[in-house]
Amino acid sequence: MPDGKPAGVRCINLDDKYMCGVWGTDDYPDVCRRFRADPTVCGESRDEALVLLTVMERQTS
Ligand code: SF4
Repeated sequence: MPDGKPAGVRCINLDDKYMCGVWGTDDYPDVCRRFRADPTVCGESRDEALVLLTVMERQTS
């Protein structure tokens, strides 16, 4: 996403199976390359991660 991913907007590179479509390619964003999974962000499940991310997006919007 050329101007960055706005809060609350699904990444255009995420496919229907929740897999990254650009992982391992030159188009893989540096911010994604540097991210390390952490329980405070990812929780213990996809549902928990969505709750945590929604809270963080609201706090930083
Ligand atoms: S890893 Fe990055 S580029 Fe890939 S789907 Fe997630 S946010 Fe989008």
